[in-house]
Amino acid sequence: MKHDKIKIKTPQEIELMKKSGNVLSACHDMLAQNCRAGITTGELDKLAEEFIRSHGGIPTFLGYGGFPGTCCISINDEVVHGIPGKRVIQDGDIVSIDCGVTLNGWVSDAARTHIVGEVPEDVRRLVKVTEECLYLGIAQAKAGNYIRDIGVAVQDHAEKNGFGVVRVLVGHGVGRVMHEEPTVPNFDCGFKGEELRKGMVIAIEPMINLRTFRVYQLDDGWTYVTGDHKPSAHFEHTVAITDGEPRILTNGID
Ligand code: MG
Ligand code: MG
Repeated sequence: MKHDKIKIKTPQEIELMKKSGNVLSACHDMLAQNCRAGITTGELDKLAEEFIRSHGGIPTFLGYGGFPGTCCISINDEVVHGIPGKRVIQDGDIVSIDCGVTLNGWVSDAARTHIVGEVPEDVRRLVKVTEECLYLGIAQAKAGNYIRDIGVAVQDHAEKNGFGVVRVLVGHGVGRVMHEEPTVPNFDCGFKGEELRKGMVIAIEPMINLRTFRVYQLDDGWTYVTGDHKPSAHFEHTVAITDGEPRILTNGID
């Protein structure tokens, strides 16, 4: 049974995934420039769709499971899967944008949280620590390590800082479709999980809450919010396992 559902990518396939990731990274850079007070989440979403299509890509999220946007845009206590629309971004918001690109049949998936204007110090620290959690998780994404090592690194850093690690949503394999095996928890799942091997490509995506790790889903059928309505942050990269250091496919660096 071991590994039988995990799709190992060839070096050529990983190069194609990198090209997809480059479009996504550039799209996130563009969104970062535009994620300001006064713009609506729907306007941001349109910018992303136009950007991806103008670069030959397809917005992976649009229509995925019926999702109506190119991006998930989740503000403050919204954790992930926020639906873009009429909401106007305000000074003092933190805005998590998750987006996916399909280019030449290969998917990339990445998320960033933006601070808009002034936010309290603990919220600023939440965003910073969540990004640090992502890179600590990525550092464990090496051949010979196990899926569990990623979650342990993320959880340790988040909880050391007093934050809550979301349990019910996890990272995942990426390839020709957005969600492949294996699942990649952001916490110690209690067993080693799959051994990481060269050619695996995974999305590592810590979702970290200011306090409680608990979340629930709104009646819109998509948006997850924190149980205590305190803020949440989310960072994600698509990462290839190599012989040596992990290769991030969605950071715009070749
Ligand atoms: Mg994502
Ligand atoms: Mg993902």
